[in-house]
Amino acid sequence: MTRPLPDLHNHEFAEHWAGLSQGRVRIRRCRSCGRHAWPPRPTCRACFSLDHEWVDVEPHGTLYSWTVVGHATLPGFESPYAVVLVELTAPVGVRLLGSYDGELADLKIGQPLTARPVQVTDEVHLLSWSHPETSKNPDDTDGAVATDDHDTEVGEYQ
Ligand SMILES: [Zn+2]
Repeated sequence: MTRPLPDLHNHEFAEHWAGLSQGRVRIRRCRSCGRHAWPPRPTCRACFSLDHEWVDVEPHGTLYSWTVVGHATLPGFESPYAVVLVELTAPVGVRLLGSYDGELADLKIGQPLTARPVQVTDEVHLLSWSHPETSKNPDDTDGAVATDDHDTEVGEYQ
C-alpha cells in the first residue's frame, strides 16, 4: 500500500524534492543576508528579503530529537518506526526531518547521523537517516562508491 507522499509541485518545496531525486540535498539560502532557511518560507526570517537561492548541503548531522510511532495511523507504514529530526553539522541551525533506518534502541540525542535519498516511487525520493558506520555496505569491497544503491531499496517502501 502506498504511503502519503509529498506534493512535488508545491513551489516552496519543489527544488528540494527534485534535488533528492538527483541524489542531492538542497535547501534555501537568502541571497540578501546569506542565512540558510528550512523549511522554506516566502520571506527570510532574518532580513525579510524575498530573494533566495537553492544550495546543496551535506546530509550529516546529529540527532536533535525523534519520535517512535508505535501504532501506524497512515497506510504504507510498518510500526514501530522512528521519525528523526537531525541538526546539520553545516550550516548551523538547520534541522531536517526524515525517516530512520536503524535500531530504535540506538536512538540517542546528539549522536551522529548521515542521510541519503531513498527512492519510494518512480518520482519521489525521501531522506533516510542512519548511523554513519552502518550506512556503508560491508560487502562493497571493489572500491566503488555506492551512490546509486537506493535503487535497490524500492521494494521496502511500497
Ligand atoms: Zn535574509
